[in-house]
Amino acid sequence: MTKISTRLAAVRQRIQAACLAAGRPGDAVTLLAVSKTFGAEAVQAAFAAGQTAFGENYIQEAVEKITALRGLPIEWHCIGPIQSNKTRLVAGHFDWVHTVDRLKIAERLSEQRSADLAPLQVCIQVNVDGGPTKSGVAPAAALTLAQAVASLPRLRLRGIMCIPEPAPDFDAACAVFKRASDLFEALNAQGLTLDTLSMGMSADLEAAIASGSTMVRVGSAIFGTRSRR
Ligand SMILES: *Cc1c(COP(=O)(O)O)cnc(C)c1O
Repeated sequence: MTKISTRLAAVRQRIQAACLAAGRPGDAVTLLAVSKTFGAEAVQAAFAAGQTAFGENYIQEAVEKITALRGLPIEWHCIGPIQSNKTRLVAGHFDWVHTVDRLKIAERLSEQRSADLAPLQVCIQVNVDGGPTKSGVAPAAALTLAQAVASLPRLRLRGIMCIPEPAPDFDAACAVFKRASDLFEALNAQGLTLDTLSMGMSADLEAAIASGSTMVRVGSAIFGTRSRR
């Protein structure tokens, strides 16, 4: 099995190359290492190789890892769907949430975020390719939700996130990602001050970076193929 540090270096190279190809500075894109289904030891191996931001999908599994690794200065990002009954765990353990797509969830997160902690950093998930059963707010509803979320006291709205369906080729992927970056710019033109466009995964990070992504969420290219779930 290839070592996590080797894979991580290869992913960093891909990000650098994609930034260069897009005429963007090499530090324009943050790497979020998606460690879902992998254990605390895998997170530790990536951390030892210099990775500090980690993404998790499954709240209960994440809380176990966060608790086990409490001593390490890791930034934890929730990138999975959040049910109402999980908001307290999310507000108590994570630094970021990428998957807010309902005001009710945002309100609960804000109410439950302890005053001892920094504000919870939030992205609104947008259903950019219009999948009928998908999570994410419709693009047309994003401004209203973003303005409401931005006014909540214990949240800090940072940007938008999307998970488009796999595209057949690079140009098709860019076309979908461009809808997200156009929306991102439109929201800022409306007076929001967003700095985070969370899009791109192992298979499509180059297209996402070409289209303006500022944060790619990469799992399998770093940790290997997931066997569970
Ligand atoms: C699993 C997951 C990723 C990482 O996917 P890979 O294809 O393994 O890179 C990124 N974002 C979200 C929301 C995910 O659930």
